[in-house]
Amino acid sequence: MPDNAIDNYETYSTGELAKACGVTVRTVQYYDEKGLLPPSDFTEGGRRVYTEDDAAKLRKVLLLKSLGLKLADIRSFLESEASTRVLRDILEAQDEKLAAELEERALALRRIAAMIESLDATGELPAETIPDMEDVMRERLTWRESELYPIYRAMLVAGILIDVVEIAAIVWWATTGDWRPFAIALPFIVVAIACVVCAYRKRIAYVCPHCRCVFEPKALNWFFATHSPTTRKVTCTACGTKSWCAEVSSERLADEREGNDNRRSCAS
Ligand SMILES: [Zn+2]
Repeated sequence: MPDNAIDNYETYSTGELAKACGVTVRTVQYYDEKGLLPPSDFTEGGRRVYTEDDAAKLRKVLLLKSLGLKLADIRSFLESEASTRVLRDILEAQDEKLAAELEERALALRRIAAMIESLDATGELPAETIPDMEDVMRERLTWRESELYPIYRAMLVAGILIDVVEIAAIVWWATTGDWRPFAIALPFIVVAIACVVCAYRKRIAYVCPHCRCVFEPKALNWFFATHSPTTRKVTCTACGTKSWCAEVSSERLADEREGNDNRRSCAS
């Protein structure tokens, strides 16, 4: 309980405020650091002094936090002049987000139930419940023929040409002892490989199996990711999930961006 009363107002030390609101001292300090809960005053000894208003504010922060709101959103609400409207927008967005998550979980539950049922009955997974990934892969095959296939073919041709030059130079070196053709060819080979990799990366994007976004992974993440011929284990730039993603033409990315004005789901 507050043990001092100044100007008819109850005041709290950090510890008292924490206790009154059922949080740790560290939490109060953290919210202060984050600019959410600056103390109303300081004692002569430099200790924080909080008022009843601050306690009400902290309870509000804790309530919003329990609804899953981010601290940045809470701060924007607390700092806003039109706080009621901002809060409404924030809650509406949170409502949408939770509803989408709920839907996703419900779908996962249905799939699990179907899989268990199928495993019990046949000892195998049912074909119709194999996740969306399969749909993406199937779609992929159709445009592999139309869009991505020329890219793969160009890469293959470029790769063979690079190999021929490289091997010829090495054979020349081994048989004649003259290393100069290899030394001359090496920088060109490195540049050629870099060009092929860049050209390839520019023409492809990935579909996130979690949020269904088409995205372009970060360069280093992409380069060092483990991959299969049609998928790559990359981090989705929209939802941040690292998973095996199907490779698609980057034209899809452009389509997605155009459509983004009307859809919130893919905005990061
Ligand atoms: Zn995602």
